Amino acid sequence: MSLDPIRILLIEDNPADASLVERYLDQSSSGSKFEVDWATRVADGRSRLRKGGHDLVLLDLSLPDSDGAETYRSVIADAGSVPVVVMTGRNDGEQALQAVREGAQDYLVKDRVDADILVRSIRYAIERKRVEEKLRISEERYSLAVTGAKDGVWDWDLKTKSIYFSERWKSMLGWASGDIGDDIDAWFSRVHPSDLPALKQQLGDHLSGGTDHFENEHRILEKSGTYRWVLARGLAVSDESGRRTRVAGSLTDIHGRKMTEEQLLHDAMHDGLTQLPNLALFQDRLKVAIAQAQRRPDYLFAVLFFDLDRFKVINDSLGHAVGDRLLVAIARRLLSFLRPGDTVARLGGDEFAILANGIDDPRDAIRIAERIQEELSRPFDLGGHEVFTGASIGIAMSSTGYTCPEDVLRDADIAMYRAKSHGGKHHAVFDLTMHRRAVELLQLETDLRRAVDGGEFVTHYQPIVDLEEGRISGFEALVRWRHPERGLVYPQEFISVAEETGMIVPLGWSVIREACAQMSKWRQRAPEQDLSLSVNLSPRQFAQPDLIERLLEVLQDTGMDPTKLSLEIIESLIMDDAESAIAKLGKLRDLGLQLHLDDFGTGYSSLSYLHKLPTHTIKIDRSFISRMTGAEGPDKIVETIVSLAQGLGMHVAAEGLETREQFLKLRKLECEYGQGYYFSRPVDREHAQALIDESPRWRPQSVE
Ligand code: C2E
Ligand code: MG
Ligand code: MG
Repeated sequence: MSLDPIRILLIEDNPADASLVERYLDQSSSGSKFEVDWATRVADGRSRLRKGGHDLVLLDLSLPDSDGAETYRSVIADAGSVPVVVMTGRNDGEQALQAVREGAQDYLVKDRVDADILVRSIRYAIERKRVEEKLRISEERYSLAVTGAKDGVWDWDLKTKSIYFSERWKSMLGWASGDIGDDIDAWFSRVHPSDLPALKQQLGDHLSGGTDHFENEHRILEKSGTYRWVLARGLAVSDESGRRTRVAGSLTDIHGRKMTEEQLLHDAMHDGLTQLPNLALFQDRLKVAIAQAQRRPDYLFAVLFFDLDRFKVINDSLGHAVGDRLLVAIARRLLSFLRPGDTVARLGGDEFAILANGIDDPRDAIRIAERIQEELSRPFDLGGHEVFTGASIGIAMSSTGYTCPEDVLRDADIAMYRAKSHGGKHHAVFDLTMHRRAVELLQLETDLRRAVDGGEFVTHYQPIVDLEEGRISGFEALVRWRHPERGLVYPQEFISVAEETGMIVPLGWSVIREACAQMSKWRQRAPEQDLSLSVNLSPRQFAQPDLIERLLEVLQDTGMDPTKLSLEIIESLIMDDAESAIAKLGKLRDLGLQLHLDDFGTGYSSLSYLHKLPTHTIKIDRSFISRMTGAEGPDKIVETIVSLAQGLGMHVAAEGLETREQFLKLRKLECEYGQGYYFSRPVDREHAQALIDESPRWRPQSVE
């Protein structure tokens, strides 16, 4: 209990009554200390009140300068939050009651008071006033909060079933006072049908005691006829027996926030450029389709996955703005023929995917693929640029039995690569052998990485023979992989993966470096043979910006004579960007290097620019040589290539020369060089050296 004395302002004109009050207070056994400030007139009392510091006013209603309820009214004007207890004579009960009605805390009849009654009344009055004050503050705060947040208020009486809506509640939604009835239906009937069940459910849960407060977001009809998002909150009130009698709360306008949320959600799930669903949304829809396929065995879906042919070229040559327009135009074309239930998504870059839902037959998926190809093969008119594109499409079917979206996309991707490998605009449906192949490739990739780091590669050398003289004129360096488990693995098995993953770059350079160092030694050992070296330069290496510097470095480090080094390149290296490739080749030639066009005849459209290539030698692909059996056709092709090369002032070499017959024929055609098993297989360094020392001769006369 507080030790501070309770300060009482006693306004009493009768000294006897005043001293009685003081005595009673002194006698009090309640433990409280009282301090009395005595005034005998209202005017005096009020001025003391204004100075403050009182805990309670004890007021005699009949004073010389005022009487009755009038006395109370004038005091209360200055009392503020200080409680007032009035004292009257026995016959003034009516006046006292009036004062209590107007806010006095209590009244005491003078000759019925004793010490206990007085002290108890004072204490209760102070306590009650404190509670009232607290309540007033909190109510004020509440009403401030309500108006501050521009909330509407509602109060539903569960007994009478009537509901009160504040003006704000109504005006917030554009309704006027008279528009809204006073039953709950006035609310519920305006709630968006899809939001109503949840609203009823949550209100019901709270009324049955399942939740400690009620809260629900829903759309509600505005007078204008559109829906607006609101947040309803409330609390139920129970009577003494615990029965719910009322539930009241607020209604907040959350439309702006909801719209922002919806926009954010839309943005998070859609591609900003085409407005198509993005990967996240696509996977989400795919998940639903997978679940459905798991429940219903007769339900089929297909995922078609593709990227655009030549998109990079279009982007690089016509600019990103045109590339973007192409993507938007493609999105529009795809949407134009797909069924409403299907999802078409842009997964990133130039990659698109389609989820065809509930198809009847696997062939439907193929029909969709054909339709896509048809649509994409029509030209796109992009503000003056007519652009052509196309796609190889991979298809994964739900019949494979998927359990997660990632697997479906992975398989569709694998199938797409298979489709691409057929060249041109194909489609392929995923099957399990593709999966096995993909896993093997992945394994191979891992192994290759390890092998590059661990130096598991060896270089073999295959002699190139001057057909006229029948002597070895040089060697081609060919890489082999000494695999710890599989033994010697040939390039056919790993070069394309190395090319795709970029590992060909470190691998290719180590072969070139090693071979140059080796040839440099051989050339010193047998200078009279004037041997040359051929190395294969992969497209990835060719594309390196520092190609020239790296080559110069190798030449310098190994002492290899550049004029005796031939770089074997393939046609496809020139295909992508002929102009700059030709310029780069020109620079290589200026270094004194020899350039050989490898595998000639296997690429396409080479003839049209062959004359522009600064290459020295054409190597006719093995496939043409192996068909040289004396029949007119194949022999004629080789003959044509040889004369073409001669016409362009280039040298000619033949690959895959396996028989004496081929040797003689090629010699006769004046093909200058030959390489093949007939002379020697590619052999390791020691055997190659033995060949150099032996310096064999192949003569046409020997068996003729
Ligand atoms: P390529 O450059 O056209 O090499 C000639 C290929 O034909 C070699 O295959 C060689 O062993 C094979 N060959 C030579 N004569 C005959 C013959 O009479 N009959 C038959 N059936 N085949 C013959 P290999 O060594 O398996 O290499 C295959 C391809 O791998 C090469 O074709 C080349 O494109 C690539 N390659 C090999 N080593 C390297 C390298 O170090 N770097 C790069 N980038 N590619 C390489
Ligand atoms: Mg080669
Ligand atoms: Mg070749």
